[in-house]
Amino acid sequence: MTLLKITELSSGYGRIQAVRQASLEVSEAEIVTLLGPNGAGKTTLLKTVAGLLRPSGGSVVYLGQAIDDWSPATRARRGLVLVPEGRGILGQMTVWENLLMGAYARGAKTKDVAEEIEKLLDQFPLLAARLQAAAGVLSGGERQLLAIARALLAHPRLLMLDEPSLGLAPRMAQEILRTIRGLRDRGITILLAEQGIRQALQLADRCYVMVTGRIVASGPAVRFLKEHELSEIYLTGIISDKASGTAAARPEREPA
Ligand code: ATP
Repeated sequence: MTLLKITELSSGYGRIQAVRQASLEVSEAEIVTLLGPNGAGKTTLLKTVAGLLRPSGGSVVYLGQAIDDWSPATRARRGLVLVPEGRGILGQMTVWENLLMGAYARGAKTKDVAEEIEKLLDQFPLLAARLQAAAGVLSGGERQLLAIARALLAHPRLLMLDEPSLGLAPRMAQEILRTIRGLRDRGITILLAEQGIRQALQLADRCYVMVTGRIVASGPAVRFLKEHELSEIYLTGIISDKASGTAAARPEREPA
């Protein structure tokens, strides 16, 4: 079943068009990666899907319904949840309070979620040990884990993660990616924006490559793993004549 279908979406900031006619689909229980270099438009695309930016063209359909007039809060309540780049953690609040905020996003009350948080923390032992700490003192990796745990309390159907391993030490980045794989195993569908190509591709079922606001290639992640060098060309944003002739011109594939 298709959860999210974006068709010819354009979006940006005033006169800056950061996403240009991008089309993309995510089906239930998939991990889809959106790969692209710095400034390709990945964040802009995710923010537009989350309702934080208004598209200048195209459509976003979620669960078969056009959602253009849904507020960001409505989207989150209906399971379309974004973990932003930079993570959006409230540093003055404790880890526990940040987790509560995730549950509030779906309209839950404190007394109803304590048990759920306890249970969730079994999968996040690093957070369980720091519940009363101010979130501001956590390491980058711990903050990312907190952002993911908080998003889970919003009961996402489609979880959008914007560069979750950005700036993390390799071991912590691996831990985050392991956590993401665990989420998929629990049936949560994931749209993952990343620059770090190999790890993201190893995790994903399918992949879209974005360069300067456009989706330039898409297909099963394993194909891009095999074409690792080619993918790297895309990710540096330098598309040689040869590469653009073989891959950029390739038609978009339907999700399996
Ligand atoms: P990154 O990995 O750096 O986050 P990205 O692929 O997520 O890259 P975006 O952040 O979506 O890319 O940026 C796409 C383009 O939009 C870039 O040219 C960027 O400079 C521009 N841009 C991003 N945010 C704003 C803003 N608030 N105002 C104006 N231009 C912006």
